[in-house]
Order: sequence, then structure tokens, then C-alpha cells
Amino acid sequence: MQRTWCRPLPAADLLVQGGRVVDPGTGADGVQDVLITAGEIAKVGPGLVAPQRTRVVDAAGMLVLPGFVDLHAHFRAPGREDEEDLGTASAAAAAGGYVAAFGMPNTEPVTDSAGLLRGLIRQAEEDAVVPLGFYGAVTRGLGGDLLTEMGELGEAGAVGFSDDGNALPTAAIIRRALQYAKVADRLVAVHAEDPSLSLGGQMHEGAASARLGLTGIPSLCESLDVFRTLDIAAYEDGRVHVCHVSAEQSLQAIARAKEAGVRVTAEVTPHHLTLVDERVATFDPNFKMNPPLRAERDRRALVEALKSGLVDCVATDHAPHAPEAKDLPFEEAPFGVIGLETAFSVLYGALVVSGEVPLATLIARMSTTPARIAGLEAPSVAAGAVANVCVVDPLAVWTVAPDTLKSRSHNTPWLGQELTAKVRLTVAAGRVAWDDLA
Ligand SMILES: [Zn+2]
Ligand SMILES: [Zn+2]
Repeated sequence: MQRTWCRPLPAADLLVQGGRVVDPGTGADGVQDVLITAGEIAKVGPGLVAPQRTRVVDAAGMLVLPGFVDLHAHFRAPGREDEEDLGTASAAAAAGGYVAAFGMPNTEPVTDSAGLLRGLIRQAEEDAVVPLGFYGAVTRGLGGDLLTEMGELGEAGAVGFSDDGNALPTAAIIRRALQYAKVADRLVAVHAEDPSLSLGGQMHEGAASARLGLTGIPSLCESLDVFRTLDIAAYEDGRVHVCHVSAEQSLQAIARAKEAGVRVTAEVTPHHLTLVDERVATFDPNFKMNPPLRAERDRRALVEALKSGLVDCVATDHAPHAPEAKDLPFEEAPFGVIGLETAFSVLYGALVVSGEVPLATLIARMSTTPARIAGLEAPSVAAGAVANVCVVDPLAVWTVAPDTLKSRSHNTPWLGQELTAKVRLTVAAGRVAWDDLA
């Protein structure tokens, strides 16, 4: 069953020469040439010769990796094309090394019917340079009470169901959503939050919020909802994906459920893995997101969970906002930051260079594992596979700025900062989707 769609671009013919191929799927880690013929990986090995009319890419000193898969992004189409559309979102994904990305249904109107989903698929077939897929809403209009026609949404191609942006309000709705999603053979991706504990909150509840005089959002607000959801999933044998885990206590809920055999997977964002609540001290709205940046203790626990696999994958929660929306006092600004173009650079610089996380582990969490969760064939740098690869210069230093970003929005906590490692080439579904080498 097809889960992603993009524009029909010409199939790539490339010889990527002399790069370090790192592929956790095959266990490869060494210098190899990679020959891509008509969009497929024809050969991987030393000393390959380019056939006629095949472009040769000098990848000496670069990393050649299976392309990344993002299970959680907001494409803002339909309805807020002033902030992002499928063309700009997919261009941002390509520039970040992604070969597939999935959009949440909190669009305007909400993607809560098969008709609306088919409209998005047609749009992706016209505009997207990287294959995009979509979630359908759990409840109509994200209203939290009436379930959508999940069977129809699943047949139309929804990768799963989510009311992301909102928590599912009652145990009864969670239970019924899991029952219907199971019949449709899809996962339910949950934004875990108890709104009675987060009401009016601006940032993580802790020493920093007390000092800054901002209303706090306690970790308990997330972990309570994770515990409840996973208890219901255990009871219904439901398939749950926990979005953007931010708190150490939520990890305990996930660990307990996994040990009990509950079908649960979880994701963590680059910002929760690398930033903490103290950064809000500048009152820069680009550090305002939901769930909020938490304490250093939480951040460390998230890194450990990513390493061990307790948290299965990295997802960006790419959430574009127009400048006029984010250019407000911290208390009034909306939650959310973009992340597709900076995810690998941020994590490579903060976690791999420092020796905290092995490169192959990071690649698995960004590529192989999220692909499997989405039901996609895992990207692999191996002969016979469709070419879903990216080439990264690990030493390149670049500045995150409006003119270096492909996203239509620029609300990132790394705005104006230098990052190390730059994606130079992305081949997605056998087509060149990003080329920063020519
Ligand atoms: Zn969310
Ligand atoms: Zn989200």
C-alpha cells in the first residue's frame, strides 16, 4: 500500500565516489563508491567506473547515508500556505537529507476525511520533491468527541491517525480510537498532555519558570497522559506512537509498557535532545514549543533513551509560523519551531561529535526505524535498493539564516547560529531532490 507521494522527477544516474558509507541496516561503515542507475543502487564497492552519461560526484571526506524519514511534521497545507506548502516543506526536507516526511492533520480545514486526504495526495504529486505522506485526524475537526471515518482514511492512504496539537480528551475516545485504528491496521500517534495541568502554561515548570515569572507546564502533564494512553493500549492491544517525548517520567511509562509487550513506539525531537528550559531566559519565542524544553536531567534521560532504543526515533515536529505570528512577546507567541533542515546538523554536532551517540545509532533512529514504523521499506545504501540516500559534508560549517533555509518560515532556535555538517545531496525515491554540489 502506497504511503507517500511526490512529483515525477527524472530518475537519477550518479556515481558517488569515495565517500564513507554508513548504513546501520547492512552494518556497513567504510569508504565505497555507490553507483545509482535509473534511480536504483546498481553497485556498491571500491573502484567503480561511471557508465556513459553518468554524473560523477566526488564524495571524498563525506558521509554517504541512508536518507532520513520524519514521522512528524506540519506542512501547513491546506490553509496556511503563507507559512509553508507541500513544495517548500518538501524542499526543506530534501535540504535536510530526508527522503520521506509525514504531515499532521491539524490543517485548515482539518484533514479529517478521505476526500481532503486525496486532495493533499494530488497536491503532493504536483509539488513535492520528496515523497510526503499524511496522517488523518482521530476526531472530526480535532473536536475531541466524534471519531473520523478511519477505515476510509486508511484506504485513502493515511499512515496513521493523530489529533496532534491536542491531546485526546477522554479515556473513552482513546479507547475507541485504538479499536478503530486496529481494524484499519494503522497506528495512533498521540500528543500526550493533560490540559488541566498545562492551561495557560508558557514553558517547563521548574526553577527557570519561577525565576522568569512565566506560567509553568509540569512534566506530569505529559507523563500522566502517556501512562493513561499506554494502559488503554495494553487493554485494547492497540498500536500507539508517542509523539515528542520530553519528560523523564514519560520514559518510565514507555519502558513499563514495552516490558509488558504493549505495541508502542516513541519519538523525540532534536530540540528536546539538545536544548533545556534555561534557554527561555532570552524570551526569544523561537524557544517556545509544546511540549516545552525541559530540565537538563530530562534532556540527559532522552539522550540515553535514544541510544538504548527505548525511544525509537527522531522526529522534527517541524512547525512553521509566519514572522508576524512569532514576532510577538513570548507569552503571546504560538508554540512550535521548524526543524527539517537543521535536524541532522544539530544532532551530529551535539551528540555524535561529542562522542555521546554513535553515528550508526543516530542514522538508525533517523532513517531505518522511522521508515519501519511508517510501513515504508527502510532506506539502505545497498545494491538493489531504490536510491534513498544523502551525502553529508561532516566538516562544513553553515549559518542558519532566512537565505539558507528552504522552508517558507524561519522560526528556529538556531537562527543566526553556525552549525557543523551540511547535507550536500539528497536522492529520494531515485530522484535528485537536493543538490548543493553542482
Ligand atoms: Zn504535538
Ligand atoms: Zn506536532
